[in-house]
Amino acid sequence: MNPFRLNPFGASPKLRDLVTDVSWNYEINKNIRPLTPKPRETDGTYRMMQEDIERIQEFHKCIECFLCQNVCHVMRDQNVQEFAGPRFLIRIASLAMHPLDTLNRLKELKDVFGLGYCNITKCCTEVCPEDIKITDNGIIPLKERVAGAFYDPLAWILKSLTSK
Ligand code: SF4
Ligand code: SF4
Repeated sequence: MNPFRLNPFGASPKLRDLVTDVSWNYEINKNIRPLTPKPRETDGTYRMMQEDIERIQEFHKCIECFLCQNVCHVMRDQNVQEFAGPRFLIRIASLAMHPLDTLNRLKELKDVFGLGYCNITKCCTEVCPEDIKITDNGIIPLKERVAGAFYDPLAWILKSLTSK
């Protein structure tokens, strides 16, 4: 058997031995607005497309092990406090892509949760024990939405014309 090495999480303050303080993660979590569903149909049910449900199902497999937070270089090396980290970007993706959610979460993704700090190295995806495609299926689609809303000049012109 090959020797292996156990280290405490590098992205969280060490308390003792292998124990680290991960409470910051739960503080970030409090800033995420909960699912705000649209009204039910007249028969009292919700209607959703199966493919929409399947898209977010993957994100709900997260067991909050925080391995992705630990390997993310933005969190480990740059210690950027305004970056939520991959675990919480995945949580926001599960809400933003939810077929019933009515909230626009793009501005807070950009300004509060620091989506732009992620440079898609995919280290988080490589360590996820639940095999969640954090970057390809979560972060990149969110980045595309934010880019479309805030950095696409054509969309910006159309928005300013229609908002008058
Ligand atoms: S892809 Fe983004 S969130 Fe994941 S480890 Fe790299 S910088 Fe961090
Ligand atoms: S590594 Fe995967 S399971 Fe663990 S917290 Fe991150 S997304 Fe969740």
